[in-house]
Amino acid sequence: MIKVCKFGGTSMADGITTMRVKRIIDADPARRYIVVSAPGKRYSGDIKVTDLLYETAREVKEGGHVGDAYARVAARYRAVVREMDLAFDIDALIDETAKDIERERSFDFAASRGEYLAGRIMAAVLGIPFIDARDVIKFKGEGLDEEKTYALVREALKGKPRAIVAGFYGEDERGRVKTFSRGGSDITGAVVARAVGADEYENWTDVSGFLACDPRIVPSPVGIGTLSYKELRELSYMGANVLHAEAVYPVREANIPIRILNTFRPEDAGTRIVAAEDVASGRTVTGIAGKKNFTVIFIEKTRMNEMSGFALLPLEVLKRYGLSFEHMPSGIDSLSFVIESSQLEGGVREKVLEEIRLAVQPDRMKVIEGIALLAVVGHGMKEKVGTAARLFEAIARAGVNVRLIDQASSELNIIVGVDNENYERSIKAVYEEFFVRGDAKS
Ligand code: ASP
Repeated sequence: MIKVCKFGGTSMADGITTMRVKRIIDADPARRYIVVSAPGKRYSGDIKVTDLLYETAREVKEGGHVGDAYARVAARYRAVVREMDLAFDIDALIDETAKDIERERSFDFAASRGEYLAGRIMAAVLGIPFIDARDVIKFKGEGLDEEKTYALVREALKGKPRAIVAGFYGEDERGRVKTFSRGGSDITGAVVARAVGADEYENWTDVSGFLACDPRIVPSPVGIGTLSYKELRELSYMGANVLHAEAVYPVREANIPIRILNTFRPEDAGTRIVAAEDVASGRTVTGIAGKKNFTVIFIEKTRMNEMSGFALLPLEVLKRYGLSFEHMPSGIDSLSFVIESSQLEGGVREKVLEEIRLAVQPDRMKVIEGIALLAVVGHGMKEKVGTAARLFEAIARAGVNVRLIDQASSELNIIVGVDNENYERSIKAVYEEFFVRGDAKS
């Protein structure tokens, strides 16, 4: 049995939490390969080491040397070593790392040192080998060189009963350190799990798995015990950010279950993420997620449906401006694009509208701002007659006007657009319907 475990920033935040991590690892001999994040926040308002390292990179860029931000980074690691009473020459490592950051002068390199230092310390805590992610995680362009990476990880871990791998970074084709996007240690964990053919990928964080909706909107929503990879993808894409959205791919292909667990409540069952869709939550709706601030561009042209390739015209405009759209609901004579409003700032919106107008010659065009999208996700909806009716009734009861509906043919989710100011109210209403009142019906 092999488990790959990833511990997030709050788990690595200080000496006490690192001690917890050690206890968790020691409690199960199957926990063999450990991926660590850089120390995160110890309390709300604290600054993550990774953020301090980006600041360090700026200091080096401006003045050639590491400065105050790096001094704070150093203090964090010194405290971890001191609190754990560890015999480890942290001062030497801190000095050496400062020189490396000054020499490399790269944001990615500076940021990566958070995981590098955390990994070095954790390897000393457990008395097991440290694997520098630079040697095994290889990028090709923006993406991962999967074949090479899997082979190198396997090779590096061969014959090692246990080891630490630093999360978040790897090396590009030119031999320079490159990081994943923020929160990317989740991806490293998934990649290691895939490479060694793990039986399970445990992702240890500071919450006991996924909740059926955002606890800032509904106090103490129910936890999701089991989730399918597909449901996870939908929910994380729409804002349920317990796990990096890209961490799913490596393990999904190899059918390795992911378990989200809480370092601060290790006895909680957490959420298990699996391939099988039938064993997923067992409810009609598995979870509800959403995001605010979308713009809808609505285009109407009579007999649009008869014109072949019509949709290509506005799409080409979007492509020229490098815009991605979230959804494209369409009718017989109309087509809409739902786009994150932030992409349209700085005059882009006006230019794009003008170009679409020229390209399409629409009968009517309308722009709706301030739209929030709500995703109601669950394989269970497929078999249940009346789910959509329940959903829309719930939203109507809350006195909210639905501005847009989009349901993919997979029937895995229904997306509903409402005005930003009705977002929280709608989430509450839908949660109430499917998880409180409708529990028996589900
Ligand atoms: N330390 C990095 C971040 O703060 C990566 C991670 O924690 O996964 O984004």
